[in-house]
Amino acid sequence: MANLGNIFDYQNDPNKSKYDGSKGNGRFPKPNKPIMIYYIVALLLLLLINTMIFPYLKEKSIISTSYSEFLTELDKSNVNQVELDDTTITYTLKSTGEDTVYKTGRINNYFGEVDRMYKAGANFTEEIPTSVSPIWLILYNLLPFILLMWFGSRLSRRISQMGPGGGGFMGMSGIGKSNAKVYDKDKTGVKFKDVAGEEEAKELLAEIVDFLHNPKKYNDIGAKIPKGTLLVGPPGTGKTLLAKAVAGEADVPFFSISGSEFVELYVGMGAAKVRDLFKQAQEKAPCIIFIDEIDAIGKKRNSNGMGGNDEREQTLNQLLTEMDGFDGSKGIIILAATNQPDSLDPALLRPGRFDRRVPVELPDMQGRVEILKVHAKDVKMAGNINFDSIAKACPGASGAELANMINEAALRAVKAGRERVNQQDLEESIEVVMAGYKKKNNVLTNKEKLIVAYHEVGHAMVAAMQNNSAPVHKITIIPRTSGALGYTMQVEEDGNHYLMSKEELENKIATLTGGRAAEELIFKSITTGASNDIEQATKIARAMFTQYGMSEDFDMVALQTQNNAYLGGDMSIACSEETQKNVDDAVIALVKEQHRKAYKILEENLMKLHEIVKYLYEKETITGEEFMSILNSKENAIEEQAKNAASDSTV
Ligand code: ADP
Ligand code: ZN
Ligand code: MG
Repeated sequence: MANLGNIFDYQNDPNKSKYDGSKGNGRFPKPNKPIMIYYIVALLLLLLINTMIFPYLKEKSIISTSYSEFLTELDKSNVNQVELDDTTITYTLKSTGEDTVYKTGRINNYFGEVDRMYKAGANFTEEIPTSVSPIWLILYNLLPFILLMWFGSRLSRRISQMGPGGGGFMGMSGIGKSNAKVYDKDKTGVKFKDVAGEEEAKELLAEIVDFLHNPKKYNDIGAKIPKGTLLVGPPGTGKTLLAKAVAGEADVPFFSISGSEFVELYVGMGAAKVRDLFKQAQEKAPCIIFIDEIDAIGKKRNSNGMGGNDEREQTLNQLLTEMDGFDGSKGIIILAATNQPDSLDPALLRPGRFDRRVPVELPDMQGRVEILKVHAKDVKMAGNINFDSIAKACPGASGAELANMINEAALRAVKAGRERVNQQDLEESIEVVMAGYKKKNNVLTNKEKLIVAYHEVGHAMVAAMQNNSAPVHKITIIPRTSGALGYTMQVEEDGNHYLMSKEELENKIATLTGGRAAEELIFKSITTGASNDIEQATKIARAMFTQYGMSEDFDMVALQTQNNAYLGGDMSIACSEETQKNVDDAVIALVKEQHRKAYKILEENLMKLHEIVKYLYEKETITGEEFMSILNSKENAIEEQAKNAASDSTV
C-alpha cells in the first residue's frame, strides 16, 4: 500500500510502470570492453610490423650499364661496392644507394682493372644482394598468422567470459568452465557500513562472517552453520550489495555468478559449470559462493515431465547434488538472492540447502534517510540538505531508486552549472525518478490545463477535508514524460504506514474519486484522465472485501489469494461465481458511495476550490503548505493571496 500515496493522472499508457526509471545502481553504466578493441590492436600491430619489414622487402632495381660508364663512375670515386665474377661486374654507387644495383660486362684479362678499382676506393664484396632475403620473406608471411592466432585466442577467451549463448565459439576449452568472478577482499571493498538500514539482515549475516573468521569455535561445539542462505526481497533493496558486504567483512574469496549464466548454449553445460564452480570453491575454501537471481535456475521443476526445460533441471539437480556433497565445516558458504522466493523449487529450500532466509525489505522512513546519506557521501552536497523531507516524499522507494535520485540530483546540479547539489535538485530528482522528467514544452492546451488543475485540486481537497486522510505534499500540473499530466503527492505524516483502518481506506477511495468529481462539478463533463485513479480505487475497494475482511457480508473470509507477495503479486480468485458477483456489486456500491461523498465535499467548498485552482493554474506547482494556507485562511486572506499570485505573474 505504500505506493498508493501518489496519484498520477492522465496516464497516456496505463500499463506503463510508473516506477521503472530506477533500475540502475545510480551510477553511469560501465561500458563493456568491446571486442572491437582486439580487432583494432591486431590491425595496428600488423600495420606496424609491415612498415618495419617493408624496407627489407623492397625489390632492388637492377640496371645494365656499359663498361665505359662504369669506368666514368670509377674515376669520379662514386663506386661503392663491387662484386666481380668471370663475366660481369656488379656494383652500387655511392650516389644512388644500395637499392640500385648496376651490372656491366667484364672485359676479360684487362690488366690493372682491379688495381684501378682499388685505387678509386671501391669496396670488394663477395655478393651484392639483388633479391629479398628469404628470412624476411618468411617473417613477412608468418607474422600475420601468428597475430591471427593470438587474436583468436583472446577473442575466444572474451567470448567464453560473456556467459550464456557466448561460450564455445572458437575456444572450445572455455565450455563448461563456470563464469564465476572471483573477487578479492580489496576488490569488493564493500562493508556492512555501506549498506544503510537493513539492520535485521545485517545481523543475520554477521553470524556467517563470524563463522568464517573463527570456524573452530563452531566446529568444537559441533554446531553446523547453515550451508545456504537465501536473501529474499523486492528488486533494488540491496541483496547483491549485502552479499558483497559479507565477502568484504569476512575477508575471504568471493565467487559471484548470476543464475542466468548457468543456462548455456549447449545442453549439459549448466551442470558442468556448477561442478566447476564448486571445484574451484573447494580449492579456495574458506570462501563464499554467491548465486544472484537464483530463480533463473531454481524454479520449480515440472512434475508432469512434459515440455520442461531439461537444461535448467539438470543444472538445478547438479546444484542440489553439489550442495549435499560438500563438507560444510570446510568453510564454504553459499549465498543466493531472489525476488521470487515462492517460485523456487522446494528441494532447494530443504534443510541442508538454502534453509536460512534473510528478508531484505524496502527501507522504512529512517532507512531511506540513511540510504540517501550513504549515497550523498559520494557527491558534493550543500550543507543544509534536509534528507528527512526528501525521504518523506518517496514512500516505497527502493535503495536503488534512492541511489538513483542522488545521482539525478547531481546531474541536475551539473546541468545548472552549480558546484554543489542543493535541496531543490533533490526534490526535483524525486519526481524524475518517481514520475518521469518534466516535459520541456507544454503540450497542454489552456483548457486542458484548467481541467487538470481542477482534477488535481479535487483530489487534494477531498484528501484534506477528510479527517484521517494524509495531508497533501505537493500538487503539480506540469506534464511528465511518463505520461502523467499532473499529480497530487500525498505523504503519510508518520512516514510509513503499515496498518490502515477501514475508514482510512474508504477515505483513500474518496480521494481517488475526487479528481473526477471536480471535473463533473465544474465542467459537467468527464475526461479520460481518471483511468489511473479508477484502477487504484477499484483495487483498494476489492481488497477490502476479498483480502482484509472489511465487510459485514463476507466477514473474515479470504476470497482471493496472493501468489507472490514480492512482485506486487497476481491474485487468484478463491470463491464461487455467485460470491464473485456479490463482491463485484459490493465494490461498485462502495466506490459509488465514496464518489458521492467526494462530490459533496467539493460542492460544499466550491469557492475554495476555485481559489486554489486559480493559484495552481498560475504557478503550475504548489506545495502542501501553500495549499493548506489557502484552504485554512479566512475569506479576505484568500483574496489577498489570490491577488498576490496574480501580481506575481504580471497580469
Ligand atoms: P538487489 O540485488 O536487491 O536488486 P542491489 O544490491 O543490486 O539490489 O542494489 C542496487 C543498488 O542500490 C546498490 O548498488 C546500491 O547503490 C543501492 N542500494 C540498494 N540498497 C541499498 C542500501 N540498503 N544501502 C545503500 N545502498 C543501497
Ligand atoms: Zn486523478
Ligand atoms: Mg541483485
